[in-house]
Amino acid sequence: MKLYLVIPCYNEEEVLPETSKRLKEKYTALIGAGKITPDSKIVFVNDGSKDKTWEMICELHKADPMFRGICLSRNKGHQNALMAGLMTVRSECDAAISMDADLQDDIDAIDEMVDRFHEGFEVVYGVRSSRKKDTFFKRTTAQGFYKVMRAMGVETVYNHADYRLMSRRALEALSEFDEVNLFLRGIVPLVGFKSTQVTYERGERFAGESKYPLKKMLAFATEGITSMSVKPIRMIATLGFLVFLVSIGVLIYSIIRKFIGETVEGWAFLAVSIWALGGIQLLAIGVIGEYIGKIYLETKHRPKFIVSEYLNDD
Ligand code: UDP
Ligand code: MG
Repeated sequence: MKLYLVIPCYNEEEVLPETSKRLKEKYTALIGAGKITPDSKIVFVNDGSKDKTWEMICELHKADPMFRGICLSRNKGHQNALMAGLMTVRSECDAAISMDADLQDDIDAIDEMVDRFHEGFEVVYGVRSSRKKDTFFKRTTAQGFYKVMRAMGVETVYNHADYRLMSRRALEALSEFDEVNLFLRGIVPLVGFKSTQVTYERGERFAGESKYPLKKMLAFATEGITSMSVKPIRMIATLGFLVFLVSIGVLIYSIIRKFIGETVEGWAFLAVSIWALGGIQLLAIGVIGEYIGKIYLETKHRPKFIVSEYLNDD
């Protein structure tokens, strides 16, 4: 099997020498064991780095054809860089594994991913067994994120980042999702096919700094929710309905107050109007939102289905 590794790199000059060395060792071992063919490649995607990352990738390629490089015209973010790499190599390989440049994802899990592929699985998710090595902050925010995603009805694999193997067929299917707002963790489960998980221990970044500061993490989470789910729109309609119910409560309450006789003239009318109108307005926005949500999903032009097998005697 011809295996390609796709690694997005943004300002990773500090980690590249070590990463390339260790990956080369891993590949040599896998080739020696006959698990992957000698024409397998390690592909670095330079995501518009401002440091020497691209120069280093060029050097690596020159010294060893096992390494390949793809350079993006400017910084487009992790998800786009990943997609660029996967889409560029998809027709050349039997399967591709995506991983980060910092080796936080244990590269020994590659062996198991390859084994699973040979067993017939087309998507193999790398799942962190624990987050002991992550900072308390990263751990809580990340786990909160998975919970929110689930509450929003987005199917994601718990504790799985973008460390995964995809077969060529799965990659071809992925290419049919031509949305611009890319949230791969949500899209890959939609691609389907026979999938499984392998667990690994997530390590620390061995050099350099995280390229995902809080600001980017929040943007990423928002992207994930708004690109995968129209539930927030539905919440407006629900809220409108609730406010409308409250207005009925207020109506009853103000009638009672009126009969007890302790109200100012016109108060009941005003109180009920405010609640009822507010409720109706929110409900109306919710209904409009429901249609906008539909338009939104239509504009994504996602495939309606992906055929995995066709029994045909011709
Ligand atoms: N990355 C990228 N473009 C960006 C930001 C990050 O290609 O704009 C790459 C980065 O080089 C790394 C991967 O995405 O290979 C994950 O980044 P990082 O390790 O900093 O994220 P963390 O592990 O802290 O979530
Ligand atoms: Mg990292």
